[in-house]
Amino acid sequence: MARAPLIDGHGRRIGDLRLSVTDRCNFRCQYCMPAEGLPWLDRDEVLRFEEIERIVALLAEMGVRDLRLTGGEPLVRRDFPQLVRMLAPLVDDLSITTNGYLLERDADALVAAGANRFNVSIDSLQRDRFFEMTRRDALPRVLAGLRALAAHPEAHPIKVNAVAMRGFTEEEVIPFAEFAREHPYEVRFIEFMPLDAGHAWSPDQVLTGEEIRAAIHAVYPLEPEPREPHATARTYRFADGRGRIGFINPVSEPFCGDCNRIRITAEGRLRTCLFSLNETDLRGPIRAGADDDELEAIIRAAVWRKELKHRVNEPGFVQPDRPMSAIGG
Ligand code: SAM
Ligand code: SF4
Repeated sequence: MARAPLIDGHGRRIGDLRLSVTDRCNFRCQYCMPAEGLPWLDRDEVLRFEEIERIVALLAEMGVRDLRLTGGEPLVRRDFPQLVRMLAPLVDDLSITTNGYLLERDADALVAAGANRFNVSIDSLQRDRFFEMTRRDALPRVLAGLRALAAHPEAHPIKVNAVAMRGFTEEEVIPFAEFAREHPYEVRFIEFMPLDAGHAWSPDQVLTGEEIRAAIHAVYPLEPEPREPHATARTYRFADGRGRIGFINPVSEPFCGDCNRIRITAEGRLRTCLFSLNETDLRGPIRAGADDDELEAIIRAAVWRKELKHRVNEPGFVQPDRPMSAIGG
């Protein structure tokens, strides 16, 4: 059944859902989670597969055709490939953001289940620095997962995401540029955002995309590619034709103007911005027996109030209580 498009109060048509399938994670990245972890949700607090399927189907009827599954770490959710198999037919594009730790185990099953795009997060190509950032000595295993994924032509182009932090990432920039030139991976640097569990973020810790771009361009000249509508990344190709690289610059160059994204947390709360201070419960109404029309009305009312833009760079910015792992990046 087709429903009217989902539109916010600023006239933006919502087409992209980022859905978190778990708040748990097997890593403890400095910029995301404390070393001791966080108080996890109880199992019955987390949306069940059938509940997720229902929400995705309803949103798809309203024109949400891009779905990204994330977390926490999505691959730690039990039977995750089965969920992918349930959801893939409902949308045009199903992508997964993962830290790659379990990819060697799951790449074949996920591709077979219908996942067609992957973002693998890697912050350093040096084992000891990877350990420092993620608090897990897991770089060889993550690289093995990446290779398992690369064996599937359907999964290309594979994106490798690195969070850019001043005082850490500078050393990684040229090795990552070379990685992107030598392998079929598009490396993308993401500016460090105020979504860390410790609320220790400060603007001077952000290594901007432009600084990184300039450093790469000085060694390996880059040419800009046209920006696609709703894109989060500014992409460049290497001038000699070998590889591509991207920059996600939410802090230094916010891209809120044509944002078409909404998010749903693992416990079924709808968030209309990464930095939202309000959220809307969907699990409660679903478990209380709301029908699809009632659920649609709740979703439309929340989306209508979607924030015009984030206020990270403005005085008085308030960081949300939830860290990135509990939102779903
Ligand atoms: N665990 C999976 C992973 O790491 O890819 C998926 C969830 S993780 C929250 C999604 C993305 O958010 C990752 O690429 C991660 O690096 C990024 N991220 C986490 N905290 C961040 C922060 N404070 N600023 C910028 N990016 C962040
Ligand atoms: Fe886990 Fe991803 Fe957060 Fe790292 S960024 S702690 S892998 S959820």
